[in-house]
Amino acid sequence: MKIVVLVKRVPDTETKVKVAGKSLDPAGVNYILNPYDEFAIEEAILLKEKHGGETIVMSVGNKDCTKEIRTALAMGVDAGVLLEAETNFCDAWSLAGAIAKKLADMKPDLVLLGKQAVDDDNTALGQYLAEKLGLPCVTVAVALEINGTKATAERQIEGGREKVEFSLPAVVTCQKGLNTPRYASMKGIMMAKKKTVEEVAVKLDAPKTRIASMELPPPRPEGRIVGEGPDAVPALITALRSEAKVI
Ligand SMILES: Cc1cc2nc3c(=O)[nH]c(=O)nc-3n(C[C@H](O)[C@H](O)[C@H](O)COP(=O)(O)OP(=O)(O)OC[C@H]3O[C@@H](n4cnc5c(N)ncnc54)[C@H](O)[C@@H]3O)c2cc1C
Repeated sequence: MKIVVLVKRVPDTETKVKVAGKSLDPAGVNYILNPYDEFAIEEAILLKEKHGGETIVMSVGNKDCTKEIRTALAMGVDAGVLLEAETNFCDAWSLAGAIAKKLADMKPDLVLLGKQAVDDDNTALGQYLAEKLGLPCVTVAVALEINGTKATAERQIEGGREKVEFSLPAVVTCQKGLNTPRYASMKGIMMAKKKTVEEVAVKLDAPKTRIASMELPPPRPEGRIVGEGPDAVPALITALRSEAKVI
């Protein structure tokens, strides 16, 4: 079975981001592997351990993304592909076009990706990709079973779980709870240095959306102490009801 995992380099969620024009200011930002992509990587490794085959990690971006590709290789993925793109504005549609072209050549049985990227939060790439490739798409998977060319997945839905059946090849977006991602071992980190990362220059399709503006939320107003002890309760209730409007 050939499994391709898509990973994105995102700003560390601890970073205090600044906006520059219509984008994030990359200065001083520490980048990490998108946390949901760790579930996709782990699932690919677990499926290979169970069914055999090969696992390939792929990212679209500049050469800096090699760091996140190497992280996946250190966890146990076999090989990497960097689709090197110019850093002009693009959206999930543009990315899906470039990735779909490469996947059409690679012919994977399964494409795994995170359910969303924690920076842009589009939750769109998997769906666009499946549409472009004409494949079934299962989103927010919290369980996945493969049996030959048939598969079942459980999806997290409001208040419960939904079980779906589909056939391979397919695109599955991964949610927290699917597995427990492993840490890269020292051996894995050393072995990752020897694994191949294919670099392919790609031209991204024209985007279908444009960012009109971007701004940070307004600063939160300072807290206020309305009094102390039981005597303060009436004033607190009045403030919660008429000012904060939360009760
Ligand atoms: C070259 C380049 C230039 C960009 N320029 C801009 C810009 O100028 N302004 C701006 O605001 N945004 C820019 N982006 C970000 C881009 O708009 C978003 O990455 C895109 O819209 C997808 O949305 P998302 O990341 O929220 O994906 P989601 O659909 O939320 O992500 C779901 C999953 O898709 C996979 N995925 C997402 N991105 C990638 C990737 N790059 N490679 C591999 N897998 C991926 C991950 O597995 C992720 O968990 C750029 C991205 C690239 C690669």
